[in-house]
Amino acid sequence: MSEQQGKPSKIIWQTCPNCQTKIQYRKDNPFRPFCSERCKNSDFLGWTEEKHRIEDKLPFSELDADFDEHH
Ligand SMILES: [Zn+2]
Repeated sequence: MSEQQGKPSKIIWQTCPNCQTKIQYRKDNPFRPFCSERCKNSDFLGWTEEKHRIEDKLPFSELDADFDEHH
């Protein structure tokens, strides 16, 4: 009569949203839902790049002209 109470052996798999690698779901994985720090950072960089592109679309020529007058 031995009851085994320990770690659950159920393995949950998930797919990394960045590189589609199958990874084992772990509660203590700091990069969730990504497979690694690299994938997490690459996603983050993609976000900031998108932001910069939007800012680039602002009409800078108008600001430039104004700045020139003050000079
Ligand atoms: Zn990945």
